[in-house]
This record gives sequence, C-alpha cells and structure tokens, in this order.
Amino acid sequence: MGSYKKVLVAIDVSEEAEQVLQAAADIAEINQALISIIHVADNPVSSFSQWSDVVIPVTENQIRESLFAQLSTLVEGVGLSKSLISIDFGRAIDVIADKAESENIDLIVIGSHGRHGIKLLLGSTANGVLHHANCDVLAVRVRALIEQ
Ligand code: AMP
Repeated sequence: MGSYKKVLVAIDVSEEAEQVLQAAADIAEINQALISIIHVADNPVSSFSQWSDVVIPVTENQIRESLFAQLSTLVEGVGLSKSLISIDFGRAIDVIADKAESENIDLIVIGSHGRHGIKLLLGSTANGVLHHANCDVLAVRVRALIEQ
C-alpha cells in the first residue's frame, strides 16, 4: 500500500458502516493521513400526508439534520470527530468520485456491501466508485452483522 495523505471514507447509515469507518480510521492513522467522511443523501422530495392531500415539504436542511444525528453516533463510536462528516445530495457514485477528485483525495475507503445487501460480489456503489474514481479505492469486506 502506498503512503496516503488524504483518505475519504464513504458510508451509508447502516450498522455495517462501523466496519468501514474503523478500517479507514486505521489506515489514516498508519499513514498519518487526513480523513474525511462523506454520506450522500437522496435529493429532497415532498411527502404527502397520509390523511390529507397537504404536501409536507422536506427540505435539505431537515434531511441533513436527521442524517447528521445518525451519522454522528456511528462516527463517534469509532473515535472519530463528527466535524469530519459531510452530507451531500445526488447520486452516490458520482458525488463520491467528484468529491475525491476536487479534494485531491488519494484513497477512497468504501464498504464492499451496504444497505443493498450482499447479493453481488461487490455492491453496486463500491463497483461504480471503483470505475469512476481517479484514485485508489479500498473495498472493505463488510460482514453482515447477522453472520458474525
Ligand atoms: P451498497 O452499494 O449499498 O452495497 O453499498 C456499498 C458501500 O457503498 C457501503 O458500505 C458504503 O461504504 C457505500 N455507500 C453506499 N451508499 C452510500 C451513500 N449514500 N453515501 C455514501 N456511501 C455510500
């Protein structure tokens, strides 16, 4: 493994994310690298109330606030600071690859599998990032917690 200076770890909001964060934290420590954490959220949608046709707008800020609380618990659980988290909106594969390029990241750490389960050899997000990114990509073999 080369010497990495800037590590970007991509996490979803699953319990398995802890394994990905821990691996990234270890690699950053060994390499004395800066670490940043990205989560990509779906673009906001308006939701309809079940009982009336009133549209309840869901704003980016509301989504960000709720996600930040959940992500902070995961991140602080492995001893990293929640100030490292950034939440962006869009298609995860593109947003992660673009951020890595614009921030001169030299290693992306990503889980082999996430929310979408372990049906594929490599989850679709990890596979897409591997194809789009210009830097090294480390896929952390995520074990479904139920199998441990
Ligand atoms: P999946 O493609 O759902 O199997 O996810 C594989 C891995 O991609 C996860 O373990 C995360 O590391 C990463 N990932 C999936 N969705 C996101 C997301 N929305 N934002 C950031 N990283 C993600």
